[in-house]
Amino acid sequence: DQDQRIAKISSAIRVIPDFPKPGIMFQDITTLLLDTKAFKDTIDLFVERYRDQNISVVAGIEARGFIFGPPIALAIGAKFVPMRKPKKLPGEVISEEYSLEYGTDKIEMHVGAVQAGERALIIDDLIATGGTLCAAIKLLERVGVNVVECACVIELPELKGRERLGDKSLFILVEAE
Ligand code: AMP
Repeated sequence: DQDQRIAKISSAIRVIPDFPKPGIMFQDITTLLLDTKAFKDTIDLFVERYRDQNISVVAGIEARGFIFGPPIALAIGAKFVPMRKPKKLPGEVISEEYSLEYGTDKIEMHVGAVQAGERALIIDDLIATGGTLCAAIKLLERVGVNVVECACVIELPELKGRERLGDKSLFILVEAE
């Protein structure tokens, strides 16, 4: 059943302490990708949730949203739109800046990739503070896209990223400490 699938997904994620710096418990999804059953269940759980929701855009956040987003997009018949770090996309872009613990970062999307009125799902591997997803929501909403939901494999609930998303709904499979 569903709880069993989620338990297997959770145990396939490797936690590496103090990476990339002291105090960070890094949630490593590369071990989930090695477990063919758990990886497929991960994609299937998202597909089951989103298949009948008229979603025409799956927006994936660099880099690990590029792993989970495309198989979901293909399965639900949506296009895949990469939301990239600055200066990676070759065409004309729109960008959204967001704050980090120290300094700021930016995500970019190609102009013309999405049209006003489209229904989008945003995918990343993990939500921590929610800053990245918040910027992705703003970027899509600026061009008139309706963000149906954000979905991540993992949530770090202690960082309260969910609150930062306001009334935008967040779907996750696994909670981590
Ligand atoms: P945030 O914007 O704070 O929600 O951070 C989310 C982004 O940072 C995602 O793209 C994650 O891949 C990455 N990230 C943040 N914290 C972790 C962590 N503990 N383990 C793995 N990835 C993380």
